[in-house]
Amino acid sequence: MMEENSREHLDTDNEAGGEDALVGNVNKLMVTPPGYTGPPKKGYIIFDACFESGNLGRVDYISEFEFDLFIRPDTCNPRFRVWFNFTVENVRETQRVIFNIVNFSKTKSLYRDGMSPVVKSTSRPKWQRLPAKNVYYYRCPDHRRNYVMSFAFCFDREDDVYQFAYCYPYTYSRLQHYLASLERRNLDYLQREQLGLSVQQRRLDLLTITNPACLNPEREKRVVFLTARVHPGESPASFICHGVIDFLVSQHPIAQVLRDHVTFKIVPMLNPDGVYLGNYRCSLMGFDLNRHWQDPSPWAHPTLHAVKQLIVQMNQDPKVSLEFYIDVHAHSTMMNGFMYGNVFEEEEIGQRQAVFPRLLCQNAPDFSLSSTSFNRDVVKAGTGRRFLGGLLDDTSYCYTLEVSFYSYLTAGSTSPVPYTEDGYIRLGRNVARTFLDYYKLNNLIDESKLTGHINSSFDSSSTSHQGIKAGNGKVKGDRKPHGVRDY
Ligand SMILES: [Zn+2]
Repeated sequence: MMEENSREHLDTDNEAGGEDALVGNVNKLMVTPPGYTGPPKKGYIIFDACFESGNLGRVDYISEFEFDLFIRPDTCNPRFRVWFNFTVENVRETQRVIFNIVNFSKTKSLYRDGMSPVVKSTSRPKWQRLPAKNVYYYRCPDHRRNYVMSFAFCFDREDDVYQFAYCYPYTYSRLQHYLASLERRNLDYLQREQLGLSVQQRRLDLLTITNPACLNPEREKRVVFLTARVHPGESPASFICHGVIDFLVSQHPIAQVLRDHVTFKIVPMLNPDGVYLGNYRCSLMGFDLNRHWQDPSPWAHPTLHAVKQLIVQMNQDPKVSLEFYIDVHAHSTMMNGFMYGNVFEEEEIGQRQAVFPRLLCQNAPDFSLSSTSFNRDVVKAGTGRRFLGGLLDDTSYCYTLEVSFYSYLTAGSTSPVPYTEDGYIRLGRNVARTFLDYYKLNNLIDESKLTGHINSSFDSSSTSHQGIKAGNGKVKGDRKPHGVRDY
C-alpha cells in the first residue's frame, strides 16, 4: 500500500522518538504530496505552531488523508513530549483527515479512557473536546511500537483556522491580561507585585489578597501560599488558580470573612518561560523546576529561587504563621481532583493533615479522597511539597493539588464527566472556600462573627461538617452530603 511505503521512507525513529533534531515549531508549513512542485492548492493543509504556547515540530505527509505529527520536545530536554498546540488552515470543506501524534514520551495515558484533544476554530472560538469515538490510542508497529494517538477530523468551513491542543491552553499573556484587569479594579485587598523575572525576562507575579488591616507589621498573620504552573503543560492548574483568585477577590461573604482572617499569597505562574514556549514539563533551559527546590540557582532557576527566598523569609518572621502551602498540578493518568501530602512520624499530625482534603471533598463533587495519598518516595524529593514540608514546622501543611487532564467521576457514578474550563475554575473556587470550613472547624474563625454575614445557603452546606473533628482521627469518608453547593 502507498501509505506503508511513504511512512517507511520517512521513518527516522530512534529511542528519543525520532525528533531529537527538532528544536523549532513548524511555521506556516504547507504539507504537499512528496515531489509536488505546482502552485499552492486549497486542501493542502498549512500547519502552524509559531505562536504563544504553540507546539508542533514536524509533519509528515502519509497520504492525502493522513499525516504523522511530531511534538516538539521541551526546550533543552528531549525527554518530554506531551503538550501539543497547533493550527491548521487552507482546508477544503468536507475534507476528512487522520492526524497521528507519533512521538509521545508517555505510554500510560487517559486517551485509553476516553480523553480526546480539544479543538476550536475561528467561527467557533469556544474550546471543545473531540468526540472520543474519533480518537484511537494504540501501539503502532510503524513507529517502533511507540504509542500513537490518532484522531479523525472532518473540516467544515474553508475559511476557518482550526486549532488543536492537548488540553485547554492558558497562556502567559492570558494571565497578564487577567492580572491587569484585576489591578484596574483598585481593590484595597489585592496587591500585585513582580517577585522576580524569568530567564527570558518574563514577570514572576505575586498576588497578596487580604484585608489591608492584616498587613499591619505588628499584626500576627495567618498565611496560605499557593503556586501553579511549575510544570508548564499543566494548563488546568491555571484555571484552578484563576478560580481561587476570582473567589477570593469577590464580594462573596465567605471571601470577605477569609480576607479578614487570612493572608493569601499566590504565585499563579512559576514557570512563565516554559508556558510561553509550549513546553510540557521544563523551563527554557530544560530543568524540571519541581526537582530543584533544595538548591535553586538564582541564574538557572530564578523564579523558583525568588519564591523559595520569600517562603524562607516569611518562615523566619515570628509574626507570620505559614499554615498552608499548595502547589497546583495536572495529572495525565488519573481522574478527578486529589491531593498528595507528606508522611509524618506522629499519627496525630498525619490526621490533622488529612482534614483539609476531607473538607474539600465535601465541597467539590469532583474531588476524590480515595485518590488522595500521603507519601515520601525518593522520586518526589526536590518537589515543592516535599521540600517545604521539611522546611516548615509541623503546624504547616504542604500539599500538591492534582487535577485530571480529562475528567472526574462523581460519587456513585461510573460515567466520567469531562472537565471543561469552567469545571477547573469551579474546583478552584471550591478550594478557596474550603479554607473557611477549615478555620471554622479549628475555632480560628469565630462562628458568631459569621452571623448575618453568611447567607443561608452557606449554613446548609456547613451542617455537612458535623462529625468532623480536626486531629481526632474520626473523620467521615468519601461521602458527599446531599445538596452540596459548588463554587
Ligand atoms: Zn506537575
